[in-house]
Amino acid sequence: MWPAIVLALTQALVPRALDAILKKLDKRTTPQPAPRAGRPEPHILFAISVLTVCQRHQCSITSWFRTPARNNLVDGHPASRHLTADAFDIVPDVQSESPKIVRAIQALGYYALIEPHHIHIQRIPPADRTRVA
Ligand SMILES: [Zn+2]
Repeated sequence: MWPAIVLALTQALVPRALDAILKKLDKRTTPQPAPRAGRPEPHILFAISVLTVCQRHQCSITSWFRTPARNNLVDGHPASRHLTADAFDIVPDVQSESPKIVRAIQALGYYALIEPHHIHIQRIPPADRTRVA
């Protein structure tokens, strides 16, 4: 089952738009080698991990990558990790499951914060409390 999920997600999550975002984020000037076989690109592994947790714990993903305009519309932090596709917002079907979901995310090495109406998850450690939004 896991390989089928990985294949489906890879096909769904690696559109040209994501490649363009990742290239834009890569500030390096020299071409970088492709990820080694068997080691997914970190953003893809992050996305697969969040989706897997959502499937297991019955959550919906309500936000991932945002443009600056969309980030402004939702009052996102100007340095939001959503701007770089390094954050997800999820909403559990059962709110009381939030602590269990946060522990599952943290067990995968990611960072999670329970907000009033969602759980914010990010791939990169928060620089400070205001960056987790
Ligand atoms: Zn968020």
